[in-house]
Amino acid sequence: MGQLIDLHTHSSASDGSDPPADLVASAAAAGLDIVALTDHDTTEGWSEAADAAVQSGIRLVPGIEISTTWKGAGVHLLAYLVDPDDVPLMAELRRIREDRRRRLTAIVARLASSGMSLDVDEILAAAGPAVTVGRPHVADAMVARGYVHDREEAFSRWLATDRIGYVPKYGPQVVDAIRLVRAAGGVSVLAHPWGRESRWRLDSESLATLAAAGLDGLEVDHADHPASTRSQLRALAVELDVAVTGSSDYHGSGKAGHDLGINTTAPDQWERLESIARARQAHR
Ligand code: AMP
Ligand code: FE
Ligand code: FE
Ligand code: ZN
Repeated sequence: MGQLIDLHTHSSASDGSDPPADLVASAAAAGLDIVALTDHDTTEGWSEAADAAVQSGIRLVPGIEISTTWKGAGVHLLAYLVDPDDVPLMAELRRIREDRRRRLTAIVARLASSGMSLDVDEILAAAGPAVTVGRPHVADAMVARGYVHDREEAFSRWLATDRIGYVPKYGPQVVDAIRLVRAAGGVSVLAHPWGRESRWRLDSESLATLAAAGLDGLEVDHADHPASTRSQLRALAVELDVAVTGSSDYHGSGKAGHDLGINTTAPDQWERLESIARARQAHR
């Protein structure tokens, strides 16, 4: 049997529901051999997850899903195996997290003008251990107040990019983030490139530009991508000579249809990424 590899998951350090240790235990129970923790804009969950991985005998890949900008819109960049002490990268992540706090207040103000009363401190308290706060936490507060039934409804009616409660946030340009990741000894993979919020901006020409800037892979097998999208992206990855990954984008109970291992990465693709990272680390 081949190895089961899932390279994209979220814990309660960002917008997932499971503490990092529980997530890793669930990954082991689901039969995964390798799992990456990729919380939004933070490395906060890494050490707890790494300890849990030793306990359960699976491998943890330390990762981050970085909020970046391309043509004025948000794009998610997965970074793996970066040095958590790399000063420029960590400073950039802190800047993103801080702007998310400003944005939280702005979102709450917008929703207030639509008649929904929410409280920033209450949202932060409910977010508990999350060091990265975002729209999912606002959605949870809207559910708690009875304004919507679930996160999905909160997004489709109020928080999606074309809705009244949407407020953009700071993110570095994707090419700058790719360079930061490389300089920190890691590899980068574009998350769900043709998923719901980025498809029309990331055309094949854009993907070629990013590959030329040093992008290492494309996340092809993802719940947001139907079969036809996957085969087109897979062909593009071959053309651009970048790795192909597949992952769950697990958020615990926070997001349906993203169970651990629902999509996985072929072992040779992970080995390819890992050896690139190893070479970069050797040259630092
Ligand atoms: P933010 O990082 O604050 O802009 O929020 C983006 C996050 O919201 C994504 O990483 C997903 O976890 C989540 N998300 C985006 N769209 C939806 C949706 N339609 N339903 C539930 N969660 C969503
Ligand atoms: Fe998320
Ligand atoms: Fe994402
Ligand atoms: Zn994600």
